[in-house]
Order: sequence, then structure tokens, then C-alpha cells
Amino acid sequence: MALPGTSSGLHIVHIAAEMAPVAKVGGLADVISGLGKALQKKGHLVEIILPKYDCMQVDQVSNLKVLDVLVQSYFEGNMFNNKIWTGTVEGLPVYFIEPQHPANYFWRAQYYGENDDFKRFSYFSRAALELLYQSGKKVDIIHCHDWQTAFVAPLYWDVYANLGFNSARVCFTCHNFEYQGTAPARDLAWCGLDVEHLDRPDRMRDNSHGRINVVKGAIVYSNIVTTVSPTYALEVRSEGGRGLQDTLKVHSRKFLGILNGIDTDTWNPSTDRHLKVQYNANDLQGKAANKAALRKQLNLASAYPSQPLVGCITRLVPQKGVHLIRHAIYKTAELGGQFVLLGSSPVPHIQKEFEGIADYFQNNNNIRLLLKYDDALSHCIYAASDMFIVPSIFEPCGLTQMIAMRYGSVPIVRKTGGLNDSVFDFDDETIPMEVRNGFTFVKADEQGLSSAMERAFNYYKRKPEVWKQLVQKDMRIDFSWDTSASQYEDIYQKAAARARAAA
Ligand code: ADP
Repeated sequence: MALPGTSSGLHIVHIAAEMAPVAKVGGLADVISGLGKALQKKGHLVEIILPKYDCMQVDQVSNLKVLDVLVQSYFEGNMFNNKIWTGTVEGLPVYFIEPQHPANYFWRAQYYGENDDFKRFSYFSRAALELLYQSGKKVDIIHCHDWQTAFVAPLYWDVYANLGFNSARVCFTCHNFEYQGTAPARDLAWCGLDVEHLDRPDRMRDNSHGRINVVKGAIVYSNIVTTVSPTYALEVRSEGGRGLQDTLKVHSRKFLGILNGIDTDTWNPSTDRHLKVQYNANDLQGKAANKAALRKQLNLASAYPSQPLVGCITRLVPQKGVHLIRHAIYKTAELGGQFVLLGSSPVPHIQKEFEGIADYFQNNNNIRLLLKYDDALSHCIYAASDMFIVPSIFEPCGLTQMIAMRYGSVPIVRKTGGLNDSVFDFDDETIPMEVRNGFTFVKADEQGLSSAMERAFNYYKRKPEVWKQLVQKDMRIDFSWDTSASQYEDIYQKAAARARAAA
């Protein structure tokens, strides 16, 4: 273990738009706290910088207080004051930036989806670097995430390094290449980047149109580039890269895929306070009690305790295979199971479609669709379900299949991205029995999903002892951040050593 302040203890700062549980939209939030905590446990000094959103869960921050300094940062030709708040989230020190800007960038009652998101997050990226610069901290690694903080990489090397703030090396993680942050080139100037210098094919100009692309900028400008699973890292080198495949090929020496872990403190059925009954792999009675409780809570039929319950917890967006999720609902009904979907959609026509399905099944006591975001309920569904559906079209890593397994819900997933790196088919004789942990299908069509579901239902109904062993095996798999955090630690150490050698 490395100790902060010793030669191997690093000072790592994550600059991000989300962090669980204070400001969570999806998996990015879980990664910031999960990876942060694991690195802290290994003896590194880890700090996080977030926007101070009006809608964040302030009750999840301890010792929240405003600092007695105002940090001034540049935007659109002017300097603006920023209030800096500090607090502790999940044991990690966090800085929250509250811009004193007339546009109230983070006072919008939502995290994303505003017309000026490009402005909001380029402002934040600049202010975050300014905070680090003015604090005089000697940071080893600045780790930025997704397009919202991708601006950090070119800003650091083109603006701040010239001011002598150059001890750090920059790591960029792309959690999903679908979101790249593109805009007319001139918009880059808002945060103080040099448009003429950067609007070039080998720097930030998008590979297929005349706009600039901030994820591309971060790939070009960062010292380390990662994505969230080895299979997705391969997929994005071809069409999965959504136009950035050639850029990734050029920069392939600094690019790698590291599978996310899950936060095993948050997701622990033996201590989870959201559950009716805590349980572990040796006590599946406890799991059954949670199933009974959820059925009661959702007014589902409860005459047959062994009627299988299929869960699905997801953002309802095309990436997640919405047509296959819909199919899974009908297929579960046909196979005599129960289905609980917890999902919400930022896409109005998808939300509407699922509201229609929810209405259709309103009086069916085997199907429930809950079209909202609800963290507490998500814990209960993981615990109550016997099987868990993730039929994604593409999936950079995916956390829900891992959480499901930890709660003894057997995953049924499409073989793509991180799902391919974490779920191994129970019937696949080419892989060792000990690693087979779920059911997979390859083609993104209804037949593929149906046949995987039929196989799972067959084991569940006909071979309960085999099923029970599978559930117990899944619950004992180590999905903690330990292994993945060691991989990050390794690449950080190498980059920091190169920085020291260069100095
Ligand atoms: P993505 O980041 O693409 O949304 P991931 O599988 O990486 O997908 O992470 C999803 C995370 O968000 C999981 O922790 C999951 O439990 C949670 N989640 C997704 N939808 C909901 C919802 N409607 N209510 C509560 N939690 C949700």
C-alpha cells in the first residue's frame, strides 16, 4: 500500500459531471465514487471536483461548507467569480463549483439536457482547472470523464501548462462513445481555447463534419485514454467508435479498456438498508423474503413463491435495446413469470411507448412497469428478482448485470461490450464451468433473447438445485473495484514516473 506524500502515493483529482450518490444520472456516477474510494484505500490522495447543481442530493454530503475564497475563471472574454464549496461524499473530499454567472449554469433543476450544455460544461472544465491552479496543489493525475469534462485535456496542455502548472498528467475516460460533444468550432473559444490552433484534423476537428469534437480533443491531448471494458475498447476501434475509430487507432498506444467494478459497500445484500431482509449466499431464505416483500409492495400475485421474477433496471434509450426489453416483458408473461421494469426515458416517444405498455398491463398482476428513477426501489428489485435482463445493442461496461449477480439475480444479456467481459453463458462448454454465470445471446433480435430466456426458465423450473448453485456462485463473484483500481494505479504510476523523468 502506498501512503500519500510518499513517492508512490499519488495525488489524483477526478473532474466529473456526476458522482454517486450526490449527483447521479448513470454509471459514470458510480465509477467516480467506486474508483475514487478504491484508490483512496490503496493509499492515494483522491479529490473530486463537481459542479454545484441545485438538484443534487445535498443530504448525501457531510460537512458541506462554502470556502472563504472566490476563484475567478475566464469565460467568453470576461472573468467570473466562483464560490467553492467543500464536503465529504462517501469518505472522499469533494469540491463543488458554484459559478457566479448570470446564466446560472447549474441552477436548472436537471443535470443535462439543457440547450447550452456545451457552454455549461466548458465553463465548468475551465473553472475546475482554475481552482487547481490557484490552489497551488501539486497534482500527479488529473482524471477527466466523458465529453462534459473532456475540455480539461486541451485546456491543461494548451493554457495551464504554459503558466507553469504542468506537474500533472491527464487521464481521460470515455464511458460511452455515443456522446462526443460536438459544436461549431468557434464555440471552443468560450472557455479560452485557441480555435485556429485546434480546428485541425489531427487535433479537435470532427472526422466527418466541420464541427469540433471534444472527445476527440481529449483523446489527442490526454496522456492516458481509457474506456470501461476490454471488449468495448476493441469495438470502438471499428464502427463502435462512432467516427472516432481512426483517431483511436492513431493513439492506440495510450488507449486501453479497463472493466469497471461496482461499489461493493453500496451494493451489498448483507448490509443493504433498503432491503426488507439482509441476506447472503448462504441464506437464500432472505432473498425469498425480499421477493415476497416486493410482490406485496407492487401488488403482484404472490400465490407461488417459486414463480420466477425477472427484473430490468435501466435508462430507456435506444442503446439499451428498448424493443428487446419490450419483447422480454411479453416473453416473460408467455413463460409464466413475473416482470418488473424500473426505467425512465429522456426520449419522449420511448417514455410514451412504455407508458402505453404500463397501461396495457395495469390489471395484470404479473407485470409492473415503474417509469421513474428510484434508487431505493432499484435495490429492492435487484434483491427480489431471480433473473435480470440486459439486452443492450451496445454496452460500454454496464453495471446492472454485476449488481444483479451480487444480489443473486442471474443475468440474461446480449454479448456486447462489458457484458461480454462479465457474463459467461451457462451452457457454453468451451469455457470452464466455474466462470459460467448467466445466459447470453449474440444477435440483437427477438429469437436470440427468447432462446436465452427459455434456457434460463428451464433451469429455474426443472433443475432448482443447479439454479441455486448458480445463484450462490454469482453472489460470490468478486466485482469489487480492487482489480480494476490496480490497473488504473499502474497506468497512473507509469505516467507519473514519466512526468518526473521529464522534469
Ligand atoms: P448507464 O450508465 O448506461 O445508464 P450502467 O449499467 O453503467 O448504465 O449504470 C446504470 C446505473 O444506474 C446502475 O447503478 C442502475 O442501478 C442505475 N439505474 C438505471 N436506471 C435507474 C432507475 N430508473 N432508477 C434507479 N436506478 C437506475
